[in-house]
Amino acid sequence: MLRRLAAGGMGSAPVLQAMGAVERHHFVDSGLANQAYEDTSLPIGFGQTISKPSVVARMIELLLAAPGARTDGLGRVLEIGTGCGYQAAVLARVAREVYSIERLRGLHERARANLRSLRLANVHLIFGDGMLGFASGAPYAGILAAAGGAAVPTAWCEQLAIGGRLVAPVADASGRQSLLVIDRSAQGFTQSVLESVHFVPLKSGIG
Ligand code: SAH
Repeated sequence: MLRRLAAGGMGSAPVLQAMGAVERHHFVDSGLANQAYEDTSLPIGFGQTISKPSVVARMIELLLAAPGARTDGLGRVLEIGTGCGYQAAVLARVAREVYSIERLRGLHERARANLRSLRLANVHLIFGDGMLGFASGAPYAGILAAAGGAAVPTAWCEQLAIGGRLVAPVADASGRQSLLVIDRSAQGFTQSVLESVHFVPLKSGIG
């Protein structure tokens, strides 16, 4: 998997190293374990999916490349959409603290179980509606959404540190999603729209 990502120009050395340290098969059903190292999203129950490795690499890479990012790794990061916890585990290896929020209790609990044996003391799993961000951990050097809505909730921008970067899928009027990057500087926010992507929908409330 890592060779394929590197060959495709995906992922800098720190990202590939972090991904190499987290066994993806540990996060999917044993019946799918043989597909865990292919570049595909896979079902994780509750109608949700684990993101494609190349997409995980791309998003984390973008966070690390923020204009305000420190060279010795990221500070606090917020992930919206814990799912099975895979991306949170990878983030834990490039960021000082990871706050990851999930709106489905069943998945929040599954992620907790998946992460337990990894003993990542810097990952904080939260059950709640990520549309509101997670104010207690703010400000964040990075915010990463694993689910896409029609717009970026204002709470996310408010909780972004100066020098921080937000990476999120956002859908246009026809429902097509693109990756959006928002950088916050002392002067305000700048945004860029990157390649098209396919994420599960961002939903409000908890379930
Ligand atoms: N990060 C995961 C991907 C999970 S899929 C990985 O490592 O592969 C996206 C997740 O976002 C789903 O579990 C979905 O339930 C969750 N989600 C959608 N809307 C949300 C919201 N408002 N708050 C928190 N989680 C949300």
